[in-house]
Amino acid sequence: MESIQDMISFVREHFNSDKFIPLHEPRFRGNEKKYLAETIDSTFVSSVGTFVDQFENMMQNITGAEKSVAVVNGTSSLQVALRLVGVKKDEEVITQALTFIATANAIAYNNAVPIFLDVDLDTMGLSPKAVKAFLEEYGELRENGCYNKSTGRRIAACMPMHTFGFPVHLDEMIRVCNQWKIPLVEDAAESLGSFYKGKHTGTIGLVSGFSFNGNKVVTSGGGGAIVTNDIQLGIQAKYLTTTAKKPHPYEFFHDDMGYNFRMPNLNAALACAQLESLEGFLADKRILAEKYTSFFKDSGIKFRQEIPYTKANYWLMCVELNNKTEREEFLKNTNDCGVMTRPIWNLMYRLPMYAHCQRDAQKNAAYLEERIVNIPSSAR
Ligand SMILES: *Cc1c(COP(=O)(O)O)cnc(C)c1O
Repeated sequence: MESIQDMISFVREHFNSDKFIPLHEPRFRGNEKKYLAETIDSTFVSSVGTFVDQFENMMQNITGAEKSVAVVNGTSSLQVALRLVGVKKDEEVITQALTFIATANAIAYNNAVPIFLDVDLDTMGLSPKAVKAFLEEYGELRENGCYNKSTGRRIAACMPMHTFGFPVHLDEMIRVCNQWKIPLVEDAAESLGSFYKGKHTGTIGLVSGFSFNGNKVVTSGGGGAIVTNDIQLGIQAKYLTTTAKKPHPYEFFHDDMGYNFRMPNLNAALACAQLESLEGFLADKRILAEKYTSFFKDSGIKFRQEIPYTKANYWLMCVELNNKTEREEFLKNTNDCGVMTRPIWNLMYRLPMYAHCQRDAQKNAAYLEERIVNIPSSAR
């Protein structure tokens, strides 16, 4: 496989390194150390502090959303987002099987049950066509929402995930969700800096969740953000994630089962410095995506690109191999040479906890599962 060796040389040359090349490394070249030192000097390292407020404001500015709430990680942002739109025990949430485990877990943490529907081949995210087909077969509109005729349970939300930062077909998604009165929650964990028709991902659904884990576009060490244009839901998000305590100078009265999900100020300090570098990281990644595009042109290996009307953040870049055998060869050759590559996730219903969940035929998801491989994608 000559082209794999060429790719390894290409990646080494781009990153100017003959050492191990990871899939995605954080870069700290701005005010990270300064803000962290300021936080320590202030003693406000924990649950209150100015960087938490600043981080939330920056997220509002970047996404254009009315409200952002900082939380401990992306998973908790999705867990709370689902609760905010009214997901309850024994209800159902439509999502994709081709996703990272956190999407499904966030549903299960609400004691709700995922329904796994297929993805589109072009976006690799939940297919509005698949959602429409499922609802036409199983959906029943009642006064308080949409019910699944085959299980008798309410379908309380639909949560697409913008795979690797490629936005799903949001216009079509919002149309089918509105028609069936199902709230749209976006798993935008991977899509900070990705846009759909000029709107930032995570601002089209009712509520969304972002992740600031160490491998994401920007990191707070660990962290997440709940984002919404609904100010009341935003206020509720802050309340629930900070133990649902009634404001009082000294009394402890909590009137709901809240969570201790607030982002520590120390992490928010790191996040603020990272967000200042976001534009630079995105520009850097776009340069690499363009270089990969011309490198893989006519190579027999397809480099996945953003589709019309969207701007992807190119968080984790990926190639599509022709079949499983070629995929295995690609994975083995690159990893053996110290250039990290990784196959896309196992479909959620292959995992023991989600094996029993309702799903459709998963034609596209199964196709992509056998072919998609992530390749080094760090900002330089
Ligand atoms: C990273 C990620 C999350 C969760 O993020 P954490 O911050 O690691 O909890 C959720 N969904 C998807 C699709 C992700 O990639």
